[in-house]
Amino acid sequence: MLPSHVWRKISSLKPGDLVVEYRGWREEIVSPISSYFPTVSEITSPCATHRDVYLHRVLALKITPSSAMIRGKVLHEVFLSPLRAVIERGLAQKDLTERLATLKNRILREIPADLRRVASRVYDIAASLASSWAFNERKIPVLVEPFIEASSVGLSDFVRPDLVVGLIPVEFVLGDKTSVKRKSLALTAYAMAIESIVHSPVNFGVVARVDLSNRVLRWHVTLLSDDLREKLIEVRNVVARIVATEDDPGKSPNCPESCPWREVCYGIPICSRARIPG
Ligand code: SF4
Repeated sequence: MLPSHVWRKISSLKPGDLVVEYRGWREEIVSPISSYFPTVSEITSPCATHRDVYLHRVLALKITPSSAMIRGKVLHEVFLSPLRAVIERGLAQKDLTERLATLKNRILREIPADLRRVASRVYDIAASLASSWAFNERKIPVLVEPFIEASSVGLSDFVRPDLVVGLIPVEFVLGDKTSVKRKSLALTAYAMAIESIVHSPVNFGVVARVDLSNRVLRWHVTLLSDDLREKLIEVRNVVARIVATEDDPGKSPNCPESCPWREVCYGIPICSRARIPG
């Protein structure tokens, strides 16, 4: 599933003397501090103050998904489809190429026309990964969007990484390198949840990024250091406290233009390019 150069990088990035205190099985360090257990998306949201969690969980407000959110969700599903077909449902090796092509045609027919070109490329990339896994005689076990119990590390009942290859969590993103950085906390959350179950170290996470500018798949290996783990617990506690105390954390000093809550926080429609008042 992971290409050989990614495995080489993982073996060359040996944790060495890296001391990791924040292992998922260390209850005395990672246990929850509140009755509210945040989700991974609440912890990794781009809102610096986590006001989005306050609006949703405390004030019970809802948003209409933006077109960017819908587009991201559709392409995410397109990416996972051939992997699900081959890995979960065990699509037979015989005529695999034709079967994957049939599945692709069906999926593309069902999605909006303006997304078909990029969806076609995203599908091809994932289908190629699925085929290479199917024909590899020494298969590493892969799970597609597994439910991983996470409450023992103070997160929502289950977390769902896109893939788990062996014990390594893998996330799929579309976009530039900034999207990779945002995923590092999510990978840390998944790794610690896995550790809490298997009691074995998970030192790496991987982001599979489809670079939309030239439509190729790029791999990014992240060493899950104690800094990341400590940060995860810190943010988890901040988010849990917001919900438990019901205190408005205030607006973020840097609101991304794409934040779906802009209309609630500033009364500015999402499509507006206007500058957010300071
Ligand atoms: S508009 Fe700003 S303050 Fe409001 S939820 Fe979005 S990022 Fe946070």
